[in-house]
Amino acid sequence: MAKVLIIGGGIVGLSSAYYLHKAGHQVTVLDKGDMTDGCSYGNAGMIVPSHFVPLATPGMVKQGIRWMFNSKSPFYVKPSLNPQLISWGLKFLKKANAGHVERSAVPLTELSLLSKKLYEELDKEPGFGFDLVEKGILMFYKTEKAAEEEAHMAQKGCSLGLDMEVLSAADCMKLQPNLQLDVLGAVHYKCDAHLSPNKLMAALIKYLKAAGVNLVANKEVTKIEASGGKVKRVLSFHDEFTADEYIVAGGSWSPAIGKLLDIKILLMPGKGYSFNIKDHQQIMQIPALLAEARVAITPMNGGLRYGGTMELDKINNRVNMNRVKGIVESVPEYFPGLKPALPAEKDIWFGFRPSSADGLPYIGRSKSFNNPTIATGHGTMGLSLGAATGLLVNAIISGTSTSISIEAFAPDRD
Ligand SMILES: Cc1cc2nc3c(=O)[nH]c(=O)nc-3n(C[C@H](O)[C@H](O)[C@H](O)COP(=O)(O)OP(=O)(O)OC[C@H]3O[C@@H](n4cnc5c(N)ncnc54)[C@H](O)[C@@H]3O)c2cc1C
Repeated sequence: MAKVLIIGGGIVGLSSAYYLHKAGHQVTVLDKGDMTDGCSYGNAGMIVPSHFVPLATPGMVKQGIRWMFNSKSPFYVKPSLNPQLISWGLKFLKKANAGHVERSAVPLTELSLLSKKLYEELDKEPGFGFDLVEKGILMFYKTEKAAEEEAHMAQKGCSLGLDMEVLSAADCMKLQPNLQLDVLGAVHYKCDAHLSPNKLMAALIKYLKAAGVNLVANKEVTKIEASGGKVKRVLSFHDEFTADEYIVAGGSWSPAIGKLLDIKILLMPGKGYSFNIKDHQQIMQIPALLAEARVAITPMNGGLRYGGTMELDKINNRVNMNRVKGIVESVPEYFPGLKPALPAEKDIWFGFRPSSADGLPYIGRSKSFNNPTIATGHGTMGLSLGAATGLLVNAIISGTSTSISIEAFAPDRD
């Protein structure tokens, strides 16, 4: 059995710790924060096998350029000469084609379905229970163009074996009678689910601590020493940690961790915001995605969680109130009876989605070294894919065969 050191205690790091510990490995997790409020906490909690199309699509390029000129739009790229952003943009453009979308669909679907199954199992384990609800997600649209795109997507999803149904506005009203609608219709992604990420993360931490996994908070990895194709030790300022195997699960900070090893991990932090409103849950039981506005609304912890926007920029702590206004104002356009108040800045959460340029996660060994494994780049789907990523990381370290092919997720892929 191996001594394993995981850098990063988000959903990917903790899920890896969970499956590695279960397999008998001796696990330590280091995190530079206190593991209470990162990207894996305030997200929309959606488990999304329906999202078999990566971010890099031909339509996204045109739409992204249009959005860039609107301060309330859901997508923004800060123009800059940052070499990482330039490499990211070039790769994004290269991959934004129908062939890539087609090639990604099966690997993404397999990864998603595996993860959903694992969450179903985990939710039933003693001490877990993180409000997993399997009512699907409704993707609402207002325009003919979105209706056509979504119908096409639903058809493709069904051909992949995913349960999806195109609904009229009247059908939607039957499903959620308390929700006033101003939409053309929706696709019901029946294959999807949702959960409380805060409860899931808290349960994982509690379980891992009780199981004897060493979770070390406020320990930033600042240096990594390697020789002969192997990582020998990692340092956090003056503290030193050694292991047989190392996992890079640093979310949006993974490129900086990779740099300590001279490994290029191409991703950009995609900042998004969320806020909770306490007493609206009776209005909505099935989570909603607003197709044109790119907003997510999830019943959670006795209220509704609203989330959205994607800002590609350097990691920073600024809250762009205009983008939050964009989320708030889009909601009554779809649901006239639902008018969330603009939250105070202190009540707005933000997180950084670790977004790879081609929209696929990085899961696997790097070619340059024998003992680090990369597990990051899950972008908008890190929660959804977290459990399966952890299981696969364990298979890589344990030297057992992975239950699905991970070739598409190779960290050194083109
Ligand atoms: C608004 C919003 C809504 C979202 N909704 C959904 C959703 O509905 N469904 C879904 O699947 N996904 C969603 N996501 C995406 C999802 O939250 C992320 O993909 C996921 O949380 C990433 O997990 P991670 O473990 O890779 O990274 P993180 O959670 O960011 O964890 C990485 C950890 O590494 C630590 N770290 C970094 N550098 C170092 C270092 N040098 N030393 C030690 N530790 C370090 C960090 O402190 C951090 O705790 C959403 C994201 C946002 C912003």
